[in-house]
Amino acid sequence: MERFEPRLRRAAEMLKQVRSGIAFTGAGISTESGLADFRSPGGLWERYRIVTYREFLASAEARAEYWQMRRELIPALLKAAPNAAHRALAELETKGRLAAVITQNIDGLHQLAGNTRVIELHGTNRSASCLSCGRSWPIEDIQQRLEADDLDPHCESCNGLIKPDTVSFGQAMPEQAMAEAFALAEQSGLLLMIGSSLEVQPAASIPAAAHQAGARLIFINRTATPLDSIAEVIFREAAGKTMELLTKLVSSPCQ
Ligand SMILES: [Zn+2]
Repeated sequence: MERFEPRLRRAAEMLKQVRSGIAFTGAGISTESGLADFRSPGGLWERYRIVTYREFLASAEARAEYWQMRRELIPALLKAAPNAAHRALAELETKGRLAAVITQNIDGLHQLAGNTRVIELHGTNRSASCLSCGRSWPIEDIQQRLEADDLDPHCESCNGLIKPDTVSFGQAMPEQAMAEAFALAEQSGLLLMIGSSLEVQPAASIPAAAHQAGARLIFINRTATPLDSIAEVIFREAAGKTMELLTKLVSSPCQ
């Protein structure tokens, strides 16, 4: 691989030439915010079984299992703060380089960093809703109920089931968000991918769709992805540091 500096300069040139690029982000952008450990050995995902959407609807026991895991997860999510990579994406939006962020993450950190147009393909863990009447709560309110040992919270208005606004296993992807993401990808001209192994479909096909419509691709990810061959510049370096330096170069008048 070419040295870091020349790759940075090439990526910065690409960003300087674009007006409404988009970013596509996955779990890897949030690891530097302390949200990496869930998948490591002994982590949350290993200690709890995945409860499918069907099971959630069908059984109070499955819901208790689901909410027990959330009760551990939610405080960690609420404590996490945007890192240098999130902040750099917000700055690129301010400077008119990025039109939107499309994310597979449910942590809400892009909005906290200041990005105003964020398309959440897997929903958000910052709020929860009643599956019957649609009433919505900040996740903090639900966490209070979980901590008071209500492990099957129901809606106060209609007694319907409450669920975080995330897309569960077996639940359909949000159609509108997917359509919006593909439309943006096809008009973008440039797609900056950060922290996704591009293995989860159908989200992973967004960079491919952008490329097919003529967009140039920059990838920042620790490991190889199935789409590396169509990316013009690839970084294996840490996302925070890379994005910080890249944004600085994009802002500088010379080079
Ligand atoms: Zn309700």
